[in-house]
Parts: sequence; structure tokens; C-alpha cells
Amino acid sequence: MNTADGITIALSKGRIYRKTLPLLAEAGIEPLDDPDTSRKLILRTNQDNVRLLVIRATDVPTFVEHGAADLGVAGKDVLLEHEGAALYEPLDLEIARCSLMVAGRVGEPEPRGRMRIATKFVHTARRFFAQKSQQVEIIKLYGAMELAPLVGLADRIVDLVESGDTLRANGMAPLEHITDISSRLVVNRAAMKMKHAPVSKLIEQLTAAVAARR
Ligand code: ATP
Ligand code: MG
Repeated sequence: MNTADGITIALSKGRIYRKTLPLLAEAGIEPLDDPDTSRKLILRTNQDNVRLLVIRATDVPTFVEHGAADLGVAGKDVLLEHEGAALYEPLDLEIARCSLMVAGRVGEPEPRGRMRIATKFVHTARRFFAQKSQQVEIIKLYGAMELAPLVGLADRIVDLVESGDTLRANGMAPLEHITDISSRLVVNRAAMKMKHAPVSKLIEQLTAAVAARR
């Protein structure tokens, strides 16, 4: 259960955790356990009333939406795919930046007829191609999207691209830019009202920490 007086922050292991940690430290919050070595999913912090939940990146909006966490850190890619109720998104943390791109095999002409697009980002991809009035077939994958065009599963992929190294290593190149991605702070609507003082203080501290880096 989320506590009435405390603050629970949901974030995912790996890149987002690593990059959020210095921002939380600026706000005076430091975890007492390291999720890379501890198997705990709830991390206590140096502040008695603040705890962290370490969950899958795609689950962060769900935990925050249902109030199991008051706040969360999630990639814009994940938020664009999330179908639940609207969350407050008060702050771009400007971390884990990359781009959502359409990519394909180098030198391969656009196929005739309906293109097959392999992606984890089904809704965003569908919206992007619908906006261009382009008929496509979306094939949902959970990972290793780059493989799909190499084995004839799809003509193109929609995936996150940072340096382009993974694409290049698989004989592919970015073709179209869909949107810029970074991680965002999200807040539960009820927590914004019921825990207004601690939540707004944390938002202010994180906002200052982000601004100080620019
Ligand atoms: P898993 O890898 O465990 O299946 P995941 O792919 O959702 O889960 P991460 O790879 O840690 O988890 O990605 C989490 C978030 O980090 C993504 O939602 C995205 O916002 C961002 N991200 C992913 N890949 C990159 C990248 N190459 N460069 C920068 N940010 C990225
Ligand atoms: Mg990943």
C-alpha cells in the first residue's frame, strides 16, 4: 500500500534509475539500497517518508495512474504508448534522450503496397503513419526489432535510436524521425492534491536540478 503521509516514487532499473539518481540527490533523496546488487523492489531512502519502487519501464505509468506510486519517471516513448488515464507530466527531466525513428535496410527501396512495420511502439507507430495517410501493417514485437527486416518479418521498424550504432551494425539506417524522446516526471492526480506540499516541493527541487544542468 502507498502510505498516506509518505511519498512513493516509481522508476525503472538501468538507464533511467542511473540517470535519475543524481537529480534525486539534488533534491536530498538518496536510496539506502542499490537495485543492481539488492533484490529489493522497494528501496528505502535517507528520508523516512520517501521510498522508491523499482519496476519495469512500461509499468511506471500504470503504478502512478493507480496511485500505487505518487510520482514516477518514465520515457516519453512509454507515456505515448500508455493508454490509461492522463497523468500530470510537470517536468521534462532531460535525461535518457534519444529519438523515435522509422528505420530500414540500407539501399532497399520502399516496398509496393502495404508496408509491414515491426515495433514495440504500436500506438505511436499507428498514429504516425495514419497522419501521413500511409497504409501499414503493424507487427508487435517486445525486443530485437532490428532483426525483423533482416529475416523478412517486416519492411521497416519503429524504434528508439540514440547513436545509430545498433542500426548500422545490422545493415540499417534511420529513415524518418517521429519524435524526440526524454524521460519525464509523472504525478498521480490525487497525490497532486492530497499530498500537495511534499509533492510540489519535490517537483520544485527537481525542476531546479534540471535547470542547473543546462
Ligand atoms: P528492457 O530493456 O528491460 O526490456 P526497456 O527497454 O523498457 O526494458 P530500457 O532499455 O532501460 O528499458 O529503456 C528505458 C527507457 O530509456 C526507454 O523507455 C526510453 O525512454 C529510454 N531509452 C531506451 N533506449 C534508449 C537509448 N538507446 N538511448 C537513450 N534512451 C533510451
Ligand atoms: Mg531496452
